[in-house]
Amino acid sequence: MSTESSSPLFRASDFSRGALQVVERLQHEGFDAFVVGGAVRDLLLGKQPKDFDVATSANPEQIKDCFRNARIVGRRFQIVHVRSGGEIIEVTTFRRGHDVSHSGQDAKSSQSGRLLRDNVYGTLDEDARRRDLTINALYYDTETHTLIDQLGGRTDIEAGIVRIIGDPADRYREDPVRMLRVIRFGARLQFKLESKTETAISETRSLLRDIPSARLFDEWLKLFMNGFSAPTFALLRAHEVLIPLMGNGVCDALIRTSAEHLQSLALRNTDQRVADGRPVTPAFLLAALYWPATEHRASALAEEGEPTIQAMHSSGQQIAHDVCQHLAIPKRFSLAMRDIWDLQPRLERRQPKKVKDLLAHRWFRAAFDLRLLREETEALGSDCSAFWTLQQQQFPELVGSARSRHDDHRKGRSRPQRRNQSK
Ligand code: ATP
Ligand code: MG
Repeated sequence: MSTESSSPLFRASDFSRGALQVVERLQHEGFDAFVVGGAVRDLLLGKQPKDFDVATSANPEQIKDCFRNARIVGRRFQIVHVRSGGEIIEVTTFRRGHDVSHSGQDAKSSQSGRLLRDNVYGTLDEDARRRDLTINALYYDTETHTLIDQLGGRTDIEAGIVRIIGDPADRYREDPVRMLRVIRFGARLQFKLESKTETAISETRSLLRDIPSARLFDEWLKLFMNGFSAPTFALLRAHEVLIPLMGNGVCDALIRTSAEHLQSLALRNTDQRVADGRPVTPAFLLAALYWPATEHRASALAEEGEPTIQAMHSSGQQIAHDVCQHLAIPKRFSLAMRDIWDLQPRLERRQPKKVKDLLAHRWFRAAFDLRLLREETEALGSDCSAFWTLQQQQFPELVGSARSRHDDHRKGRSRPQRRNQSK
């Protein structure tokens, strides 16, 4: 274990006001409290943390009692969200990992060893060991400016290594999502995977099929919407976890066909948008990644005699249904994904009477972007995109102007939200 306090590693201004206040308040009430995990890791890497988590010796009720604006959330394990200004600090009680001697209490696991519930409280040492990666098991006391690094996380950060804490295969069996996390951090930080951390993935990757579909989609968002989707996709593929992540049948087409080029363009396009601070929607990337599967089925239906537009619609419906069995894509994204597919043959037709309606379609821009990628990768020629470029220049105010009912419904929402609320 190493603790350092001689010259402060970080300045108070490196932390958000909310994080500082939460730590101070908990310590004032006599509890231990630290900023933990990703924020400490990112600060050591010289990056701006995207949010702050706090770990404490206080239990959820005690945490709640310390703050006016706090609520207990989480099923798999309880977390307290403390709201401070526009920020939400996620506060967790020190927990210990799952082992047989403790399993009577409040931890529960499935036959494969997967943790279903994990609310056994423990000490800071135990809390560090139940975390996923050494680089995520760092604690910083913002009052005394002390770093607590029990497991060599700082050395791994300096050496650029992603290392699972404990036996990798056991830790993956407990929670297969950790395999995705390992890959995500490897790709995002451009770190090497430590050898056992890497090799154990081949033993346990089939367990990814048992992950509840909603949790898998949460993880999907973190994998693909964070600006590093292209290297992440490549690493997922290299470790053969792409199929368990994206679904079986539809992925066959996805991997077999010459779709690779279209997918990698879509991924790079998404990463570039994130880098430029432009908005990204999962709907576009989902539509692009599953496009080969959808197109494949649409062609089969058309060959059986369904009219083109209808064939695309039925195919989209079927593929979306199949994918959602596995990956719980929220309706607002799956409907948008289907709209983007439906628009493909309609853009192709260029019917004069429909031009304005299509331009105004909520998902016109995304559909047009997919069309551009297809023209680049499917040898389609560029007449169609040239036509729609012209129409957009002629009627710029129309583009995407039709709101969906869903947007209107969402307008009233203003509660601050953490970007990712699941662990
Ligand atoms: P990010 O920058 O992506 O938010 P993070 O490290 O903060 O990275 P979170 O998903 O916010 O990641 O999780 C917060 C902390 O909780 C992690 O740093 C890690 O210590 C712990 N953690 C998260 N998921 C797991 C898991 N599946 N198993 C063990 N520990 C986990
Ligand atoms: Mg985090």
